[in-house]
Amino acid sequence: MLNQLTVEGASLAAPSAFEDPAVLLGRYGSIIGHELGHALDSRGSQRDELGRVRDWWSADDRAAFEERAARVVADVDGCHPRGIEDAVVDGRLVGFEVVAELVSYQIAWDTYASMTTADERATPVDGFTGAQRFFLAKTYGRRGIDRPETARARLHGDVHPPFEVFANLARHLDAFHEAFATRPGDGMWLDPEDRVRVY
Ligand SMILES: [Zn+2]
Repeated sequence: MLNQLTVEGASLAAPSAFEDPAVLLGRYGSIIGHELGHALDSRGSQRDELGRVRDWWSADDRAAFEERAARVVADVDGCHPRGIEDAVVDGRLVGFEVVAELVSYQIAWDTYASMTTADERATPVDGFTGAQRFFLAKTYGRRGIDRPETARARLHGDVHPPFEVFANLARHLDAFHEAFATRPGDGMWLDPEDRVRVY
């Protein structure tokens, strides 16, 4: 088995996207970050760097991870996807994927921040700062719409949550709130003490 990641051609945007690190990291860095996140989650903890079945986490690391993962699960549990009034997100069903997606935001943002200066992140292109373009690119990468029947079926059996649940995880990053100058009462607002950083 090869230890590799394939990004399908159909998920790639116009070549110009590769010229802007905000778009590159927001869109593709986070796809890669999601899969890396699975290597560092409760299932990834069961296999070591050579793929052997071996628990490589300390008890303290596991307890810290479980505590943070539980907070992310609680955050998404019970959400009503848009247009679906009679079914909600089951946090335990999707928790595994939601944690990997939040880790992907963090890996991609930290990489973007390490590659750029504060001035570059604040410089507008087409009306959006670098930080804003990062989060927009990330969100566009998760755009999608389901028919109500598909959305209901997904809620009951798919470990991947509805699209907006993934996209709304941005509210756990301080950088998101700084980028868009959010305030208490805004739809995406999350109190700083309720924001989860998994790693
Ligand atoms: Zn996944």
